[in-house]
Amino acid sequence: MRHRIAVVGGGPGGLTFARVLHRHGYPVTVLEREPAPDARPPGGTLDMHEGLGQLALNKAGLLAEFHALSRPEGQAMRILETDGTVLRDWRRRPDDRTNPEIDRGQLRDLLLGPLDIQWDRGVTQVEPETRDGVLVRFADGRQETFDLVVGADGAWSRTRPAVSPVTPHYAGVTYVETSLDDVDTRHPDLARLIGDGSVAVYGVNRALVAQRNSGGHIKVYAQFRAPLDWHANLDLADVEAVRSSLLALFDGWAAPVLDLLRHATAFVHRPLYVLPVSHTWTHVPGVTLLGDAAHLMPPLGAGANLAMLEGAELAESITTGHGDLDEVVRAFEEQMWTRAGRWAKITTTGLERLVSPDPAEALALFDQVQPS
Ligand SMILES: Cc1cc2nc3c(=O)[nH]c(=O)nc-3n(C[C@H](O)[C@H](O)[C@H](O)COP(=O)(O)OP(=O)(O)OC[C@H]3O[C@@H](n4cnc5c(N)ncnc54)[C@H](O)[C@@H]3O)c2cc1C
Repeated sequence: MRHRIAVVGGGPGGLTFARVLHRHGYPVTVLEREPAPDARPPGGTLDMHEGLGQLALNKAGLLAEFHALSRPEGQAMRILETDGTVLRDWRRRPDDRTNPEIDRGQLRDLLLGPLDIQWDRGVTQVEPETRDGVLVRFADGRQETFDLVVGADGAWSRTRPAVSPVTPHYAGVTYVETSLDDVDTRHPDLARLIGDGSVAVYGVNRALVAQRNSGGHIKVYAQFRAPLDWHANLDLADVEAVRSSLLALFDGWAAPVLDLLRHATAFVHRPLYVLPVSHTWTHVPGVTLLGDAAHLMPPLGAGANLAMLEGAELAESITTGHGDLDEVVRAFEEQMWTRAGRWAKITTTGLERLVSPDPAEALALFDQVQPS
């Protein structure tokens, strides 16, 4: 008998879950709040790890297509001193495909493929163990029941309260994101500074990171330790006011580095929120979580990878599982908690060291993780 399965959220985790089920001919309902795939800008580039995101793409039958789209050269990484001196310059080794980069929009379209998504279906509440199964309530007042509801609805999940009372807390670090377009023609000096991959500059409790996306698009992240209300006297909608405030924060840094902020045309405020490391819950029949909904952690290159692998693994176990659905979900949760707990520790320590009172810590961290 086929179960009535829904996934809330069409991000990397939810789409991978749905795509692997679809590959095995298993029906799934994908409920997405956004009205269309391109309703919001998709965000920056993602690196897909060989043993995580790439494994998930393989389970979805999409690895070859991913390799055709991805940018292995995007693995290049340069670290500068605040005065502009180059401290490290890691180039990609020939044939290195351990962590190629892909634009989020490209990854989304790849995963969407033939999937039939229910757009504009914001979920407001998930109620387990009703007479007819798990009840899902929608923002438009409608409701529907399923045998299994998978919450892949990100940091502020509306599915999470059905299994856990925990909510994300501020990590003490804020990102302000901006971007530059057509960098190769409009800002060739910056294009050379950034190279094929990323450039990062670490100072005391602050950092500036720029990452190349495809098509000459650059995402820039100003990162700093600050109380959540650091902008109390600043109008975040006032581009020039935000620019001045950031330039003051990075005062004294090399002019080409500050050009990343001077040439920006808009700023997006992103205080970092996290769930407690090793967030688990008492199993609730018919509802589970994956990805950021389950284990929101600092954005150090693992979140989308984990969400995708979890989606792929849960889908695979559903299609191959001989036991009952609940047993499959319990086993999935145990596996997810162990792996995500490990990554939450790594990324929490990583954030402490990258945006740290001692910038030498950031360099030491990269020396540990970059291939020599
Ligand atoms: C600056 C930055 C850089 C990052 N870089 C990387 C990286 O290089 N590599 C990496 O692996 N990770 C990276 N991450 C982390 C990564 O973005 C997340 O971990 C990942 O997107 C989580 O995927 P997800 O599918 O769990 O959730 P999300 O991507 O958050 O997707 C959730 C989906 O659910 C939908 N939704 C939300 N609420 C509802 C609702 N109530 N009803 C219906 N739908 C809903 C949303 O619209 C969205 O489509 C980065 C994060 C940031 C902020």
